[in-house]
Amino acid sequence: STAASTLVDVVRDRAQTLGSATAYEFEGRVTSFAEFDRKTDQVANALRALGLKPHERIAYFGKNSDSYFELLVGAMKANVVMAPVNWRLAGPEVAFIVEDCRAPALFVGPEFITMIRDIRDQLPSVRHIITTEGGAPEWQDYTAWRDAQSADDPGVAITPQDIALQLYTSGTTGKPKGAMLSHANFLNLVNTGNPDEKPDWNKWSTDDVSLIAMPIFHIGGSGWGLMSLYHGARGVVAREFDPTKILDFFEQSGITKLFMVPAAMQFVVRQPRARQVDFSRLKYMLYGASPIPAALLKECIDVFKCGFVQMYGMTETTGTIIALPPEDHIEGLERMRSAGKPLPGIEVAIIDVDGRPLPPRQVGEIATRSGSNMTGYWNLPEATARTLGKDGWLRTGDAGYMDEDGYVYIHDRIKDMIISGGENIYPAEVESALCDHPDVAEAAVIGIPDDKWGEAVKAIVVMKPGKRATETDIINFTRTRIAGFKTPKSVDFLDALPRNPSGKILRRNLRDPYWAGKDRQVN
Ligand code: ATP
Ligand code: MG
Repeated sequence: STAASTLVDVVRDRAQTLGSATAYEFEGRVTSFAEFDRKTDQVANALRALGLKPHERIAYFGKNSDSYFELLVGAMKANVVMAPVNWRLAGPEVAFIVEDCRAPALFVGPEFITMIRDIRDQLPSVRHIITTEGGAPEWQDYTAWRDAQSADDPGVAITPQDIALQLYTSGTTGKPKGAMLSHANFLNLVNTGNPDEKPDWNKWSTDDVSLIAMPIFHIGGSGWGLMSLYHGARGVVAREFDPTKILDFFEQSGITKLFMVPAAMQFVVRQPRARQVDFSRLKYMLYGASPIPAALLKECIDVFKCGFVQMYGMTETTGTIIALPPEDHIEGLERMRSAGKPLPGIEVAIIDVDGRPLPPRQVGEIATRSGSNMTGYWNLPEATARTLGKDGWLRTGDAGYMDEDGYVYIHDRIKDMIISGGENIYPAEVESALCDHPDVAEAAVIGIPDDKWGEAVKAIVVMKPGKRATETDIINFTRTRIAGFKTPKSVDFLDALPRNPSGKILRRNLRDPYWAGKDRQVN
């Protein structure tokens, strides 16, 4: 295929070369590459008929669907920017994002019609509401809206620097920020490196069947769904993450690769049925977005029996920049604790507070430079300047180090680092040690105020059903695994951990009650 400079070129090319092969499959409905090209032209024409101008935003508030991907690419063809909104947010938060985008058009999934009716008066920018699957007589239905238009090329000029997607960060450390990702940002990720030297896990064929199981309002959903489109694979779209249904997809759709976050893997692997499922067609499970406890990874390797690839990246880097390939997933190997090596064409450095590079094995902030660094945050010039700097090196906000061979070890978010008695403690390491305890299902670690040490390490633990290890048992066990200064001083028990939709533990929610009225120094 010819060199594409935008994702629109990619879609046109796939329609030409792959025609009737399936681009997306959703709840029994298949859309071929040729149909996808036609439908996205119709969407682009329909957006223009609504009066949308290039660089305006549209918002999507719904669960995963094939129509989301049509709207995403249809918007690109009109040079309009899709901004999918996290459907777990409360009404005022949704209104904030839609209004922040000044979106004249809002697309709503069937589950959220009532909510949007309730906040309608908080959405003054929205001139048009369109339901993706009907269900609201006062609003237009997507399919009819789309099919009323011609499938002619809308003929809108698009450059590689135009924004292809505005994706909000997960909101783990604060308010979600809208990362603007350009066509060039996406194409850089797939085009870097010598194609002949691509490792097998990163090669795609048109026989691949990829499961889009993570929500599309995150890079692990939207980015992953665009990946399979780019590579001409069949993208099977899961409406939402439901662990039993995920197992059905393996059996019924012959999934060959998928991306999941560790919290999702835990739900799937702990399904009683998981050990009976035939995973023989599954080649690779790619996982990342938060640290994975060693015990969980081992369990997954036993059950899924496929190649595992850890990925490290962020919304602001358009996805994966560092990967740990299957051959490094060997128990006992130090590397298995790392997130892997930077992908070809991606620069990664560990820097100190002044931005100077640090030598191997010294912990600092992970920084990265490549054509996949976002264009900026929407409407947040100061945060953009802080994150992107002047030098093109994006500050990830994550602490870590690199070994002599270039493997990157992610310690944790700098904001979550605990300083106790002058020692730096990274919660993820302590959490992983806690999860090694046979009674512990999951664990979170935070720093709480301590007169003597500045901060003290506190563990919050969820027990496996029917298990009853005590605080002392858990502390004693952990002390045999990690240094005394990292060992929790106290343990709380909860029924579940607060997590965001990407499965990330919201440590700030656990921490805040302890810091009420006090100032926590963040480095
Ligand atoms: P916010 O920026 O709004 O606080 P967020 O950082 O969680 O939210 P994302 O862009 O979805 O939003 O996530 C990126 C972050 O996820 C990284 O900065 C890192 O902290 C974490 N992460 C990603 N991959 C890994 C990994 N393999 N291991 C550990 N942490 C990871
Ligand atoms: Mg972040």
